[in-house]
Amino acid sequence: MKFTQLFSKTKKDSPKDEVSKNAQLLIKAGYIHKELAGVYTYLPLGLRVINKISNIIREEMNKVGGQEILMTVLQDKGLWEKTGRWNDDVVDDWFKTKLKNDTELGLGFTHEEPLVNLMKNHINSYKDLPIYPYQIQTKFRNELRAKSGLMRGREFLMKDMYSFSKDKEEHEAFYEKMKGVYMNIFNKLGLGDKTYITISSGGSFSKYSYEFQTMSEAGEDIIYIIDQEKKLAINKDDFNEEIIKDFNLEIKKENLISSKSIEIGDIYSLGFKYSEAMNLKYTTKDGEDKFVYMGCYGIGIPRLMGAVVESNSDDKGIVWPKEISPFDIHLIGLDKVADTSNKIYDGLIERGFSVLYDDRADTSAGIKFNDADLIGIPIQIIIGEKKLKNNELEMKDRKTQEIKTVSVDSLYDLL
Ligand code: ATP
Ligand code: MG
Repeated sequence: MKFTQLFSKTKKDSPKDEVSKNAQLLIKAGYIHKELAGVYTYLPLGLRVINKISNIIREEMNKVGGQEILMTVLQDKGLWEKTGRWNDDVVDDWFKTKLKNDTELGLGFTHEEPLVNLMKNHINSYKDLPIYPYQIQTKFRNELRAKSGLMRGREFLMKDMYSFSKDKEEHEAFYEKMKGVYMNIFNKLGLGDKTYITISSGGSFSKYSYEFQTMSEAGEDIIYIIDQEKKLAINKDDFNEEIIKDFNLEIKKENLISSKSIEIGDIYSLGFKYSEAMNLKYTTKDGEDKFVYMGCYGIGIPRLMGAVVESNSDDKGIVWPKEISPFDIHLIGLDKVADTSNKIYDGLIERGFSVLYDDRADTSAGIKFNDADLIGIPIQIIIGEKKLKNNELEMKDRKTQEIKTVSVDSLYDLL
């Protein structure tokens, strides 16, 4: 992608109406556009990051047998009345709307009800289980406060997977496995070290659930770290003597390190909560009818993007981990070397790299360098007249700011 063709521009100043670092940097660098508080448009650079994160998650979901679907945003009120969740006193962040004939509809904030209803068409016998449908889809939530940029949107993409199992045992094996799968995802995004599998309250069916909390000053939660190696923590909101007993923990609260943190994902055992309310049953080998045992597994994709920016930036801008950087390489062509720069751009593309090429002719080197650091692609290649006289160019590491001079001929071998 050539800079001169990219319609989104970097801005000189940070937006004044954003308080979060992630929104400030992402808007300044031209990744997103704010429509309303908590409502953002993804510009070309931002969408590339969203798609990369989605694909990492998708790959991990498919590996454990996930089957991707895409459900509707519009929700049938009748289904949600079956579980009591249409009631605004039970769910306080619905966006609701109406058809022209006054029939009420909701904009989905999650999808258990319609999915259980859908699965009644597909689950009959023990042979149909277990199954793991998931989607990457837009949720709507009328959040009270939306000041954390991408981390608390009123409209946001979520990966939501649901497990349908024959019994508690089958469910628990998968549930355990998903802890590892989630940590794999967060490791790939460079958040593994800071992310803790956090015991928290379980909702209405099971006593506990797990949140995946990434330590960050920008977080809205607080966790107590129980085990650094096993990456185990407890959410402050749920910390009590009962948890210590239930999990056989030898800890004293006053000895624990606490940290602010961001909830980037969570996993729940739903048990029979929805299958009972909506009568989702299967027939066992012995011909007995039983309710399906369920779990759900969420990750907020923009929240994850926001969390990565919060923990990977410096005073110059964003520093993407290479797995989700919008491009592999930021190529900077300086004055009077357009021919060579064009050739190297083509050479990189030919070799399968994705490249953002700053081909602006009327822009100073300083502005190009600042923009590259702001945008945050991990590798920068700088082509300038002086070095080129010796058949050399510069490679710069965005994170360390280290610059190496290398020969043009060795470039492709070094990447
Ligand atoms: P929170 O307590 O932060 O509101 P939640 O418990 O409501 O989160 P879930 O309903 O379990 O979250 O949603 C699954 C995941 O979706 C969360 O772990 C989080 O990563 C993400 N998420 C939740 N709400 C938002 C939001 N408003 N904007 C972006 N991501 C969100
Ligand atoms: Mg919430």
